[in-house]
Amino acid sequence: MKELSIYIHIPFCVRKCLYCDFLSFSVGTGSDDGDNYVNQIAPANEKKIESYVNLLCDEIRCSAPPYGQYRVISIFFGGGTPSLLPVGTVSRILDWIREHYHVAEDAEITIEMNPETVDEKKLKEYITCGINRLSIGLQSADDAELKRIGRIHDYRTFEKVYRAARRIGFDNINIDVMSALPDQNLDDYMRTLRQVTALAPEHVSAYSLTLEDDTPLCDRRAEFRFPTDEEEREMYRRTGEYLAENGYHRYEISNYAREGFECRHNKVYWQRGNYIGFGLGAASMAENVRWNDPVDMERYQAYVEQLARSTDKTGGRRIRENDVKLFDLQPLTVREQMEEFMFLGLRMMRGVDGQTFYEVFGESMEELYGKVIDKLCGYGVLVREQGRIRLTEQGIDVSNFVMSQFLFD
Ligand code: SF4
Repeated sequence: MKELSIYIHIPFCVRKCLYCDFLSFSVGTGSDDGDNYVNQIAPANEKKIESYVNLLCDEIRCSAPPYGQYRVISIFFGGGTPSLLPVGTVSRILDWIREHYHVAEDAEITIEMNPETVDEKKLKEYITCGINRLSIGLQSADDAELKRIGRIHDYRTFEKVYRAARRIGFDNINIDVMSALPDQNLDDYMRTLRQVTALAPEHVSAYSLTLEDDTPLCDRRAEFRFPTDEEEREMYRRTGEYLAENGYHRYEISNYAREGFECRHNKVYWQRGNYIGFGLGAASMAENVRWNDPVDMERYQAYVEQLARSTDKTGGRRIRENDVKLFDLQPLTVREQMEEFMFLGLRMMRGVDGQTFYEVFGESMEELYGKVIDKLCGYGVLVREQGRIRLTEQGIDVSNFVMSQFLFD
């Protein structure tokens, strides 16, 4: 049976963080008094969220027919803040997926959480409905840093949620941390890492803050001192060293795990497995065809309604093949597939395997890319090892450059 992964996008947050340019909307009460935000969705937005979940469920149902022969190996609730959904909603969506797809018994099922939106009741709901991996957005253990970037939670709330999750029985938890925050120095950042490892999560994702245009933090950048590129690289290097000393191996540029706890869902993206995304702006790639759901709510609604009509007419048989325009399908050429295979594969520390390349494409990686590989090995940014190629430490620092070299003209 072929494998499939499912992504569910929940585009709502209590309040936008100051650095965020993800597709998400503020739906909170606007309260900034340090109270607990659990279930603090502004009443006017409750209906909006409910309508969105109804659309999402329709999309899930109507997209199912072509995937009758696929086994779902991972499900990921991302956002936005999926954990702000009212109690009962996540389990409803999950039941709905199980009703329409073959979800493997041992599927990895993750939900992203903002600590301020979770309580024991929600955690119990999650474990009961089969969620077996939590991804908690901490970002920093320093409350002043959290405030500077507009996070709604403090460290104490995070720790309370983390300990409750352990007590309830979650044994696979990721903690997100960020470096290169405003006014942060290396010591500050290392303090966060130490506090995180003291809790012994199974997985750590560590990203540098990127100042995106048109975000409030970018507009206010003159008020802060941001780490220089050099300091940022040093934070990155120290992350790898420190986490390795504490039992976490880096398996992707920004992801670290204890043995056996690499994120199965994200590996599907990097290894070009089949995945379908549901919800506003969600991206999909199945059988070498990519498509994206609309990013505008009205267009998303029209899209789901059209999808429902097509499904009813055709019984859902290969509807995506029949309506390229509606679904904005982008079939990938073999060359594009090869490019993706290389630059997504190189994100992983084990790199890209020449034999697998041959099995997938029937062509030799060395014949196609030999000159590029020679050049990059010469620069010291790539290394050949037993039929594989992978980034060196130096290569990680310039990974965008290295990956761009694998694009065909
Ligand atoms: S919680 Fe995440 S998605 Fe929501 S505003 Fe903050 S960074 Fe963006």
